[in-house]
Amino acid sequence: MALIVQKFGGTSVGSIERIRNVARRALATQRAGNDVVLIVSAMSGETNRLLGLAHEVTGVPDAREMDVIASTGEQISSALMALAIQNEGGQARSLLGHQVKILTDGAFTKARIKTIEGSKIFDTVRKGQIAVVAGFQGVNEHGDITTLGRGGSDTTGVAVAAAIGATACEIYTDVDGVYTTDPNICPSARKIDRISFEEMLELASLGAKVLQIRSVEIAMKYGVPIHVRSSFSEGEGTWVVKEDSALEDVVVAGVAYDKGEARVHIVGVEDKPGIVADLFGKIAEKNISVDMIIQSVTAGATERANVTFTVTKTDLVRAKPFIEEVAKGIGAREVRYDEDVVKVSIVGLGMRSHAGIAAKMFRILAGENINIQAISTSEIKVSCLIAAKYTELAVRTLHDAFGLGQKK
Ligand code: ADP
Ligand code: ASP
Ligand code: MG
Repeated sequence: MALIVQKFGGTSVGSIERIRNVARRALATQRAGNDVVLIVSAMSGETNRLLGLAHEVTGVPDAREMDVIASTGEQISSALMALAIQNEGGQARSLLGHQVKILTDGAFTKARIKTIEGSKIFDTVRKGQIAVVAGFQGVNEHGDITTLGRGGSDTTGVAVAAAIGATACEIYTDVDGVYTTDPNICPSARKIDRISFEEMLELASLGAKVLQIRSVEIAMKYGVPIHVRSSFSEGEGTWVVKEDSALEDVVVAGVAYDKGEARVHIVGVEDKPGIVADLFGKIAEKNISVDMIIQSVTAGATERANVTFTVTKTDLVRAKPFIEEVAKGIGAREVRYDEDVVKVSIVGLGMRSHAGIAAKMFRILAGENINIQAISTSEIKVSCLIAAKYTELAVRTLHDAFGLGQKK
Protein backbone atom coordinates (compact mmCIF):
# COMPACT_ATOMS: atom_id res chain seq x y z
CA MET A 1 0.00 0.00 0.00
CA ALA A 2 1.46 3.35 -1.01
CA LEU A 3 1.25 6.61 0.89
CA ILE A 4 0.23 9.37 -1.54
CA VAL A 5 0.53 13.10 -0.79
CA GLN A 6 -1.44 15.42 -3.08
CA LYS A 7 -1.44 19.21 -2.75
CA PHE A 8 -4.23 21.20 -4.40
CA GLY A 9 -3.76 24.94 -5.08
CA GLY A 10 -6.28 27.76 -4.85
CA THR A 11 -7.80 27.41 -8.31
CA SER A 12 -8.18 23.64 -7.84
CA VAL A 13 -10.38 24.24 -4.77
CA GLY A 14 -11.81 27.54 -6.04
CA SER A 15 -15.48 26.51 -5.97
CA ILE A 16 -17.68 23.89 -4.31
CA GLU A 17 -17.85 22.00 -7.61
CA ARG A 18 -14.06 21.91 -7.83
CA ILE A 19 -13.79 20.79 -4.23
CA ARG A 20 -16.17 17.93 -5.08
CA ASN A 21 -13.94 17.00 -8.04
CA VAL A 22 -10.87 16.83 -5.84
CA ALA A 23 -12.80 14.77 -3.29
CA ARG A 24 -13.79 12.26 -5.98
CA ARG A 25 -10.25 12.11 -7.28
CA ALA A 26 -8.82 11.51 -3.80
CA LEU A 27 -11.37 8.78 -3.12
CA ALA A 28 -10.50 7.04 -6.39
CA THR A 29 -6.83 7.09 -5.36
CA GLN A 30 -7.75 5.65 -1.97
CA ARG A 31 -9.98 2.94 -3.49
CA ALA A 32 -7.07 1.92 -5.71
CA GLY A 33 -5.42 0.76 -2.47
CA ASN A 34 -3.49 3.80 -1.25
CA ASP A 35 -3.36 5.86 1.92
CA VAL A 36 -4.12 9.44 0.91
CA VAL A 37 -3.01 12.72 2.47
CA LEU A 38 -4.33 15.93 0.91
CA ILE A 39 -2.86 19.38 1.45
CA VAL A 40 -5.18 22.22 0.47
CA SER A 41 -4.72 25.92 -0.21
CA ALA A 42 -7.36 28.54 0.47
CA MET A 43 -9.98 28.95 -2.26
CA SER A 44 -8.55 31.19 -5.00
CA GLY A 45 -8.66 34.89 -4.15
CA GLU A 46 -9.41 34.22 -0.48
CA THR A 47 -5.95 34.97 0.93
CA ASN A 48 -5.83 38.27 -0.97
CA ARG A 49 -9.28 39.12 0.34
CA LEU A 50 -8.25 38.38 3.93
CA LEU A 51 -5.01 40.37 3.72
CA GLY A 52 -6.99 43.22 2.11
CA LEU A 53 -9.32 43.33 5.12
CA ALA A 54 -6.35 43.67 7.48
CA HIS A 55 -4.95 46.50 5.35
CA GLU A 56 -8.32 48.26 5.42
CA VAL A 57 -8.08 48.43 9.19
CA THR A 58 -4.51 49.67 9.37
CA GLY A 59 -1.68 50.63 7.00
CA VAL A 60 1.06 48.38 8.34
CA PRO A 61 -0.77 45.55 10.16
CA ASP A 62 0.89 43.60 12.96
CA ALA A 63 2.37 40.43 11.47
CA ARG A 64 1.09 38.11 14.20
CA GLU A 65 -2.50 39.18 13.65
CA MET A 66 -2.06 38.98 9.87
CA ASP A 67 -1.23 35.30 10.27
CA VAL A 68 -4.28 34.66 12.46
CA ILE A 69 -6.41 36.15 9.69
CA ALA A 70 -4.62 34.67 6.65
CA SER A 71 -4.59 31.13 8.03
CA THR A 72 -8.40 31.01 8.14
CA GLY A 73 -8.53 30.57 4.35
CA GLU A 74 -7.00 27.11 4.61
CA GLN A 75 -9.03 26.30 7.74
CA ILE A 76 -12.20 26.71 5.69
CA SER A 77 -11.02 24.83 2.57
CA SER A 78 -9.69 21.87 4.57
CA ALA A 79 -12.99 21.42 6.38
CA LEU A 80 -15.01 21.85 3.16
CA MET A 81 -12.82 19.19 1.54
CA ALA A 82 -13.38 16.78 4.43
CA LEU A 83 -17.14 17.37 4.16
CA ALA A 84 -17.05 16.83 0.38
CA ILE A 85 -15.26 13.50 0.82
CA GLN A 86 -17.80 12.42 3.45
CA ASN A 87 -20.60 13.49 1.13
CA GLU A 88 -19.18 11.17 -1.54
CA GLY A 89 -19.42 8.29 0.91
CA GLY A 90 -15.79 8.39 2.09
CA GLN A 91 -14.20 9.16 5.40
CA ALA A 92 -12.01 12.19 6.03
CA ARG A 93 -10.64 14.45 8.76
CA SER A 94 -9.34 17.99 8.42
CA LEU A 95 -6.13 18.75 10.29
CA LEU A 96 -4.90 22.28 10.97
CA GLY A 97 -1.23 23.24 11.38
CA HIS A 98 -1.28 23.09 15.17
CA GLN A 99 -3.17 19.76 15.16
CA VAL A 100 -0.63 18.02 12.92
CA LYS A 101 1.99 19.93 14.82
CA ILE A 102 3.76 21.72 12.03
CA LEU A 103 6.25 23.54 14.21
CA THR A 104 7.80 26.68 12.69
CA ASP A 105 10.10 29.48 13.77
CA GLY A 106 8.48 32.71 14.93
CA ALA A 107 8.87 34.76 11.73
CA PHE A 108 5.21 35.68 11.19
CA THR A 109 4.10 35.90 7.52
CA LYS A 110 7.25 34.09 6.34
CA ALA A 111 7.82 31.33 8.90
CA ARG A 112 10.05 28.33 8.20
CA ILE A 113 9.08 24.81 9.16
CA LYS A 114 11.31 23.26 11.82
CA THR A 115 9.63 19.89 12.42
CA ILE A 116 6.44 18.02 11.53
CA GLU A 117 4.95 15.26 13.65
CA GLY A 118 3.67 12.37 11.55
CA SER A 119 1.61 10.66 14.27
CA LYS A 120 -1.70 12.50 13.81
CA ILE A 121 -1.58 11.92 10.04
CA PHE A 122 -0.69 8.24 10.47
CA ASP A 123 -3.49 7.77 13.05
CA THR A 124 -5.94 9.31 10.58
CA VAL A 125 -5.03 7.23 7.52
CA ARG A 126 -4.78 4.07 9.63
CA LYS A 127 -8.48 4.47 10.39
CA GLY A 128 -9.21 4.49 6.66
CA GLN A 129 -9.76 8.24 6.63
CA ILE A 130 -8.29 10.68 4.15
CA ALA A 131 -6.21 13.25 6.06
CA VAL A 132 -6.90 16.77 4.77
CA VAL A 133 -4.12 19.04 6.01
CA ALA A 134 -4.53 22.82 5.86
CA GLY A 135 -1.63 24.22 3.83
CA PHE A 136 0.32 27.44 4.47
CA GLN A 137 -0.01 27.38 8.27
CA GLY A 138 2.00 26.25 11.26
CA VAL A 139 2.48 27.04 14.89
CA ASN A 140 5.50 28.48 16.71
CA GLU A 141 6.92 27.21 20.00
CA HIS A 142 4.56 29.51 21.95
CA GLY A 143 1.49 28.14 20.23
CA ASP A 144 0.97 31.21 18.02
CA ILE A 145 -0.33 30.62 14.49
CA THR A 146 2.23 31.33 11.75
CA THR A 147 2.06 31.28 7.94
CA LEU A 148 4.76 30.22 5.50
CA GLY A 149 4.77 33.08 2.98
CA ARG A 150 2.72 33.41 -0.23
CA GLY A 151 2.45 30.13 -2.06
CA GLY A 152 3.36 28.33 1.18
CA SER A 153 0.98 25.39 0.72
CA ASP A 154 3.50 23.93 -1.73
CA THR A 155 5.96 23.88 1.14
CA THR A 156 3.45 22.23 3.47
CA GLY A 157 2.90 19.57 0.81
CA VAL A 158 6.55 18.72 0.27
CA ALA A 159 7.44 18.97 3.97
CA VAL A 160 4.58 16.62 4.93
CA ALA A 161 5.64 14.19 2.19
CA ALA A 162 9.21 14.23 3.56
CA ALA A 163 8.06 13.87 7.17
CA ILE A 164 5.80 10.86 6.59
CA GLY A 165 8.10 9.16 4.10
CA ALA A 166 5.92 9.41 0.97
CA THR A 167 7.76 8.49 -2.21
CA ALA A 168 6.76 11.72 -3.98
CA CYS A 169 4.64 14.85 -3.62
CA GLU A 170 2.03 15.63 -6.26
CA ILE A 171 1.32 19.34 -6.75
CA TYR A 172 -1.98 19.90 -8.54
CA THR A 173 -2.39 23.35 -10.05
CA ASP A 174 -4.03 25.31 -12.88
CA VAL A 175 -1.35 24.54 -15.50
CA ASP A 176 -0.30 21.03 -16.50
CA GLY A 177 3.32 21.29 -15.41
CA VAL A 178 6.39 23.48 -15.25
CA TYR A 179 6.90 25.35 -18.50
CA THR A 180 9.94 26.94 -20.12
CA THR A 181 8.36 30.22 -18.99
CA ASP A 182 5.02 31.40 -17.62
CA PRO A 183 2.53 29.99 -20.18
CA ASN A 184 0.10 32.74 -19.25
CA ILE A 185 2.31 35.43 -20.81
CA CYS A 186 4.23 33.51 -23.47
CA PRO A 187 2.17 31.57 -26.04
CA SER A 188 5.16 29.53 -27.25
CA ALA A 189 6.05 28.27 -23.73
CA ARG A 190 6.60 24.52 -23.71
CA LYS A 191 5.96 22.01 -20.94
CA ILE A 192 9.12 20.47 -19.50
CA ASP A 193 8.93 16.72 -18.76
CA ARG A 194 11.74 16.62 -16.20
CA ILE A 195 13.68 19.42 -14.54
CA SER A 196 16.49 19.31 -11.96
CA PHE A 197 15.98 20.55 -8.39
CA GLU A 198 18.70 23.15 -8.97
CA GLU A 199 17.09 24.65 -12.06
CA MET A 200 13.67 24.62 -10.42
CA LEU A 201 15.14 26.30 -7.35
CA GLU A 202 16.50 29.14 -9.49
CA LEU A 203 13.29 29.48 -11.50
CA ALA A 204 11.23 29.58 -8.29
CA SER A 205 13.51 32.10 -6.61
CA LEU A 206 13.43 34.29 -9.72
CA GLY A 207 9.66 34.54 -9.83
CA ALA A 208 8.19 31.35 -11.40
CA LYS A 209 5.46 31.05 -8.79
CA VAL A 210 4.34 27.57 -9.88
CA LEU A 211 6.31 26.26 -6.87
CA GLN A 212 7.26 28.16 -3.73
CA ILE A 213 11.04 28.24 -3.40
CA ARG A 214 11.05 26.67 0.09
CA SER A 215 9.17 23.64 -1.24
CA VAL A 216 11.95 23.00 -3.77
CA GLU A 217 14.64 23.46 -1.10
CA ILE A 218 12.98 20.87 1.11
CA ALA A 219 12.43 18.48 -1.81
CA MET A 220 16.11 18.76 -2.70
CA LYS A 221 17.30 18.32 0.89
CA TYR A 222 15.18 15.24 1.55
CA GLY A 223 15.22 13.85 -1.97
CA VAL A 224 11.44 14.01 -2.46
CA PRO A 225 10.53 14.09 -6.17
CA ILE A 226 7.78 16.61 -6.99
CA HIS A 227 5.22 15.92 -9.70
CA VAL A 228 3.60 19.19 -10.85
CA ARG A 229 0.39 18.46 -12.75
CA SER A 230 -3.06 19.71 -13.63
CA SER A 231 -6.04 19.14 -11.39
CA PHE A 232 -8.26 19.34 -14.47
CA SER A 233 -6.74 16.49 -16.48
CA GLU A 234 -5.16 13.10 -15.95
CA GLY A 235 -2.00 13.62 -18.02
CA GLU A 236 1.60 13.42 -16.78
CA GLY A 237 2.97 16.77 -15.66
CA THR A 238 6.55 17.74 -14.85
CA TRP A 239 8.86 15.76 -12.58
CA VAL A 240 11.21 17.87 -10.49
CA VAL A 241 14.04 15.51 -9.63
CA LYS A 242 17.71 15.10 -8.79
CA GLU A 243 19.95 16.02 -11.71
CA ASP A 244 20.51 13.01 -13.94
CA SER A 245 21.38 12.13 -17.50
CA ALA A 246 17.75 12.05 -18.62
CA LEU A 247 17.42 15.81 -18.32
CA GLU A 248 17.10 17.90 -21.43
CA ASP A 249 20.36 18.87 -23.08
CA VAL A 250 19.87 22.63 -23.23
CA VAL A 251 21.91 25.62 -22.13
CA VAL A 252 18.97 27.74 -21.03
CA ALA A 253 16.13 25.73 -19.46
CA GLY A 254 13.73 28.53 -18.64
CA VAL A 255 12.91 32.23 -18.42
CA ALA A 256 11.40 33.79 -15.29
CA TYR A 257 10.27 37.26 -14.28
CA ASP A 258 9.62 38.92 -10.94
CA LYS A 259 7.66 42.11 -10.45
CA GLY A 260 8.15 42.02 -6.69
CA GLU A 261 11.28 44.14 -6.51
CA ALA A 262 11.81 47.90 -6.41
CA ARG A 263 14.91 49.88 -7.37
CA VAL A 264 16.60 52.27 -4.95
CA HIS A 265 19.02 54.77 -6.46
CA ILE A 266 21.31 56.65 -4.07
CA VAL A 267 22.93 59.58 -5.84
CA GLY A 268 26.26 61.22 -5.08
CA VAL A 269 27.80 59.42 -2.14
CA GLU A 270 31.47 59.88 -1.33
CA ASP A 271 33.69 57.58 -3.34
CA LYS A 272 35.95 56.19 -0.61
CA PRO A 273 36.56 52.86 1.10
CA GLY A 274 33.98 51.77 3.66
CA ILE A 275 30.96 53.71 2.34
CA VAL A 276 29.26 50.77 0.67
CA ALA A 277 30.09 48.50 3.60
CA ASP A 278 28.48 51.05 5.88
CA LEU A 279 25.36 51.41 3.77
CA PHE A 280 24.64 47.71 3.27
CA GLY A 281 25.75 46.80 6.79
CA LYS A 282 23.08 49.10 8.22
CA ILE A 283 20.43 47.82 5.81
CA ALA A 284 21.25 44.22 6.75
CA GLU A 285 20.93 45.06 10.44
CA LYS A 286 17.28 45.91 9.76
CA ASN A 287 16.74 42.46 8.26
CA ILE A 288 16.11 43.87 4.79
CA SER A 289 17.59 41.73 2.04
CA VAL A 290 19.14 43.44 -0.93
CA ASP A 291 19.21 41.62 -4.24
CA MET A 292 20.93 43.35 -7.18
CA ILE A 293 23.64 45.97 -6.57
CA ILE A 294 25.40 48.37 -8.95
CA GLN A 295 27.90 51.09 -8.06
CA SER A 296 29.08 53.65 -10.57
CA VAL A 297 31.42 56.61 -10.24
CA THR A 298 30.44 59.93 -11.76
CA ALA A 299 33.21 61.99 -13.30
CA GLY A 300 33.65 65.49 -11.90
CA ALA A 301 35.83 67.71 -9.81
CA THR A 302 35.03 65.78 -6.65
CA GLU A 303 34.60 62.07 -7.26
CA ARG A 304 31.14 60.91 -6.28
CA ALA A 305 29.53 57.51 -6.64
CA ASN A 306 25.96 56.41 -7.31
CA VAL A 307 24.69 53.22 -5.72
CA THR A 308 21.70 51.33 -7.14
CA PHE A 309 20.16 48.29 -5.48
CA THR A 310 16.88 46.40 -5.31
CA VAL A 311 14.75 45.32 -2.35
CA THR A 312 11.33 43.71 -2.36
CA LYS A 313 8.39 46.08 -2.72
CA THR A 314 7.04 44.79 0.59
CA ASP A 315 10.28 45.65 2.37
CA LEU A 316 10.49 49.05 0.67
CA VAL A 317 7.42 50.36 2.53
CA ARG A 318 9.04 49.94 5.91
CA ALA A 319 12.60 50.56 4.69
CA LYS A 320 12.14 53.98 3.03
CA PRO A 321 12.56 56.21 6.10
CA PHE A 322 15.48 54.15 7.24
CA ILE A 323 17.23 54.14 3.84
CA GLU A 324 16.93 57.92 3.72
CA GLU A 325 18.49 58.27 7.15
CA VAL A 326 21.40 56.00 6.22
CA ALA A 327 21.86 57.79 2.87
CA LYS A 328 22.07 61.13 4.63
CA GLY A 329 24.64 59.66 7.02
CA ILE A 330 26.97 58.78 4.15
CA GLY A 331 26.60 62.17 2.50
CA ALA A 332 24.26 61.20 -0.36
CA ARG A 333 22.74 64.03 -2.41
CA GLU A 334 19.46 62.34 -3.22
CA VAL A 335 17.55 59.03 -3.00
CA ARG A 336 15.22 57.95 -5.82
CA TYR A 337 12.84 55.01 -5.99
CA ASP A 338 11.36 53.16 -8.93
CA GLU A 339 8.70 50.51 -8.45
CA ASP A 340 7.90 50.14 -12.16
CA VAL A 341 10.61 47.57 -12.73
CA VAL A 342 10.75 43.84 -13.41
CA LYS A 343 13.61 41.40 -13.04
CA VAL A 344 13.83 39.08 -16.04
CA SER A 345 16.08 36.02 -15.72
CA ILE A 346 17.35 33.12 -17.77
CA VAL A 347 18.22 29.87 -15.97
CA GLY A 348 20.07 26.73 -17.02
CA LEU A 349 22.61 24.22 -15.69
CA GLY A 350 24.22 24.29 -19.15
CA MET A 351 25.46 27.85 -18.55
CA ARG A 352 28.20 26.40 -16.37
CA SER A 353 29.96 25.10 -19.45
CA HIS A 354 28.97 27.70 -22.04
CA ALA A 355 30.51 31.16 -22.34
CA GLY A 356 28.78 34.21 -23.75
CA ILE A 357 25.23 33.51 -22.55
CA ALA A 358 25.00 36.76 -20.57
CA ALA A 359 26.32 38.75 -23.54
CA LYS A 360 23.73 37.09 -25.77
CA MET A 361 20.96 38.05 -23.32
CA PHE A 362 22.12 41.69 -23.29
CA ARG A 363 22.23 41.75 -27.09
CA ILE A 364 18.71 40.34 -27.38
CA LEU A 365 17.33 42.97 -25.00
CA ALA A 366 19.26 45.73 -26.80
CA GLY A 367 17.77 44.50 -30.08
CA GLU A 368 14.33 45.36 -28.65
CA ASN A 369 15.60 48.73 -27.40
CA ILE A 370 15.18 47.66 -23.79
CA ASN A 371 17.50 49.43 -21.36
CA ILE A 372 19.12 47.30 -18.62
CA GLN A 373 19.14 49.03 -15.23
CA ALA A 374 20.94 46.40 -13.16
CA ILE A 375 22.43 42.96 -13.66
CA SER A 376 23.18 40.00 -11.43
CA THR A 377 24.57 36.60 -12.31
CA SER A 378 25.32 33.25 -10.74
CA GLU A 379 26.74 30.06 -12.18
CA ILE A 380 23.39 29.04 -13.63
CA LYS A 381 21.42 32.27 -14.13
CA VAL A 382 21.58 35.82 -15.46
CA SER A 383 19.09 38.46 -14.30
CA CYS A 384 18.43 41.90 -15.77
CA LEU A 385 16.34 44.65 -14.23
CA ILE A 386 14.28 46.51 -16.85
CA ALA A 387 11.21 48.75 -17.02
CA ALA A 388 8.05 46.78 -16.10
CA LYS A 389 6.24 47.79 -19.31
CA TYR A 390 8.65 45.55 -21.26
CA THR A 391 7.91 42.38 -19.25
CA GLU A 392 6.04 40.44 -21.91
CA LEU A 393 8.22 41.62 -24.78
CA ALA A 394 11.42 40.69 -22.94
CA VAL A 395 10.16 37.28 -21.76
CA ARG A 396 8.83 36.27 -25.18
CA THR A 397 11.88 37.52 -27.09
CA LEU A 398 14.39 35.86 -24.75
CA HIS A 399 12.35 32.65 -24.66
CA ASP A 400 12.29 32.32 -28.43
CA ALA A 401 15.83 33.61 -29.05
CA PHE A 402 17.24 30.93 -26.73
CA GLY A 403 15.33 28.30 -28.70
CA LEU A 404 12.97 27.29 -25.91
CA GLY A 405 9.85 27.25 -28.03
CA GLN A 406 10.59 24.21 -30.13
CA LYS A 407 11.35 20.67 -29.00
CA LYS A 408 15.02 19.73 -29.61
P1 ADP B 1 -1.72 27.36 -7.18
O1 ADP B 1 -2.82 28.24 -6.71
O2 ADP B 1 -2.18 26.05 -7.74
O3 ADP B 1 -0.63 27.21 -6.15
P2 ADP B 1 -0.12 29.36 -8.56
O4 ADP B 1 -0.88 30.47 -9.13
O5 ADP B 1 0.58 29.60 -7.27
O6 ADP B 1 -1.08 28.08 -8.45
O7 ADP B 1 0.98 28.82 -9.62
C1 ADP B 1 0.59 28.45 -10.92
C2 ADP B 1 0.87 29.62 -11.87
O8 ADP B 1 2.29 29.81 -11.97
C3 ADP B 1 0.46 29.39 -13.31
O9 ADP B 1 -0.90 29.72 -13.52
C4 ADP B 1 1.41 30.30 -14.09
O10 ADP B 1 0.82 31.53 -14.46
C5 ADP B 1 2.53 30.61 -13.10
N1 ADP B 1 3.86 30.30 -13.65
C6 ADP B 1 4.91 31.15 -13.66
N2 ADP B 1 5.98 30.60 -14.23
C7 ADP B 1 5.62 29.34 -14.61
C8 ADP B 1 6.30 28.28 -15.26
N3 ADP B 1 7.59 28.36 -15.63
N4 ADP B 1 5.61 27.12 -15.50
C9 ADP B 1 4.32 27.01 -15.13
N5 ADP B 1 3.63 27.99 -14.51
C10 ADP B 1 4.26 29.16 -14.25
N1 ASP C 1 -3.27 30.62 0.32
C1 ASP C 1 -1.86 31.00 0.37
C2 ASP C 1 -1.55 32.05 -0.70
O1 ASP C 1 -2.44 32.46 -1.43
C3 ASP C 1 -0.96 29.82 0.26
C4 ASP C 1 -1.04 29.05 -1.04
O2 ASP C 1 -1.99 29.22 -1.81
O3 ASP C 1 -0.10 28.27 -1.30
O4 ASP C 1 -0.44 32.51 -0.79
MG1 MG D 1 0.91 28.48 -5.55
